Amino acid sequence: MNIDVKKILNEKPIYSGKAKSIYKIDEDKVLIEFRDDITAGDGAKKDIKKGKGYLNALISSKLFEVLNKDNIPTHYIEYIDPVYMVAKNVEIVLIEVIVRNIAAGSLCRKYPFKEGQELKRPIVQFDYKSDEYGDPMLNEDIAIALDLATEEELKRLKELALKVNESLKKFFDERGIILVDFKIEFGRTKDGELVVADEISPDTMRLWDKETKDILDKDIFRKDLGDVVGKYEIVAKRIGCI
Ligand code: 5GP
Repeated sequence: MNIDVKKILNEKPIYSGKAKSIYKIDEDKVLIEFRDDITAGDGAKKDIKKGKGYLNALISSKLFEVLNKDNIPTHYIEYIDPVYMVAKNVEIVLIEVIVRNIAAGSLCRKYPFKEGQELKRPIVQFDYKSDEYGDPMLNEDIAIALDLATEEELKRLKELALKVNESLKKFFDERGIILVDFKIEFGRTKDGELVVADEISPDTMRLWDKETKDILDKDIFRKDLGDVVGKYEIVAKRIGCI
């Protein structure tokens, strides 16, 4: 695809989030720029980590390619070196879909799970995507009452999230990495189809080394455990991006 990135970046982004900016290419496509900004705790902790945008663009693109190969619909079209992704222009569903294989993070803070405990079956959780309200957990009735999605769409979100989990869990496992949990977002295409959207990167997943259980994701930054970009580089190498 012939895309004049320089020209597109001259225009104002249609959306700028905590770590990505979105530019319109045309009615059907957007250009996503992965920036070096890193935040935690809904933006309470902020920094800039050189090279993070590059690694997340690479890793995200690779993971969307894995999903597309497994016939899971996504917004992904192509990667553009160094920090860009071309994606379908979709309407983002304001539900963060979280899938957990192993107990960690907020699950252990809120419920009596032990960190590292394997879950009998994956947990799928819906959070309201809202900085203003601090991403509270949803149930089906609240999501429908807020008009975030229909009952059929909620079913489809769960079904797709579990498929994403199976696909990525296997992919990482074969590369010596445990997929602990992750958050994905969905978009509605013009035809009303739900597709996996946004990003899938160590910013949005927990990844542990299978042998050593070393943390290879944003928890390094959240918990001040050292060189976060170095860990993302390990992930990128293991999955064959660099
Ligand atoms: P937890 O609920 O334990 O904080 O997060 C569960 C998983 O979803 C983790 O992999 C975490 O990175 C991801 N996650 C949940 N909410 C968000 C969010 O608002 N932003 C990002 N980047 N990841 C999130």
